[in-house]
Amino acid sequence: MRFLVTNDDGVHAPGLAVLANAAARLGEVHVVAPDTERSGVAHAITLYKPLRLRELQPGWLACDGTPTDCVYLALHQLHLQPDFVLSGVNPGPNLGHDVLYSGTVAGALEGAHWNIPSIAISHCSGSEEVLAQVGPLIDRLLPRLLEVARSQRGAVNVNLPSIQRGPWKGIRATCMGHRIYANEVIVRNDPRGRAYYWIGGNDVKMPDIEGSDCNAVRDGYVSVTPLGDDLTRHREIESVAAALSDVRLP
Ligand code: MN
Repeated sequence: MRFLVTNDDGVHAPGLAVLANAAARLGEVHVVAPDTERSGVAHAITLYKPLRLRELQPGWLACDGTPTDCVYLALHQLHLQPDFVLSGVNPGPNLGHDVLYSGTVAGALEGAHWNIPSIAISHCSGSEEVLAQVGPLIDRLLPRLLEVARSQRGAVNVNLPSIQRGPWKGIRATCMGHRIYANEVIVRNDPRGRAYYWIGGNDVKMPDIEGSDCNAVRDGYVSVTPLGDDLTRHREIESVAAALSDVRLP
């Protein structure tokens, strides 16, 4: 088996090493990952500046682009032809609507877009030291996740509960839930007196949605969500058509 491994935390992130090591037990590993932190870039692709690849060690390349750029170049320029694309391990969850902002998930969606079974993995503890302890658990879990990914047409988004809260209780197939952030923006002044803004905050609420990824992780279960890239609300197409039925274009 041949694996392409990427992430959105940068090529030096400990989570990437955890995932690459787990994959190396099962086959040949190629890493193509952003050279620096790219969390939150979602599915961005770089079109208006050149990209460069730098080999750090055999099979490990840093790219000055996004996770999507990394997968795109690996497939269409390096022609790696992986059997699987793996993205992560992200320090911190990618649950509910995090998925729409996540570069980790985008790396897997880009692989799935080119018909390669792809898995995004996130660990709900943001601590990189704790992440290292998760390695042996991922070693055990990965073969089964690969089976699941191979049987799916899209990407698989995996969230691992924080092991600081106790051992995992099991594994659940889930849907995307909701994560509601406190819409926090920190405003400060730079040394020249101009305001700058920092988006983010730790206050997150997760409504109780049965079968969701948020619930699974809250309850101590590994969450496995099959994802596609079709954002259409299919049930609403008819009502949109009805609302437009009397529109006459000039
Ligand atoms: Mn990240």
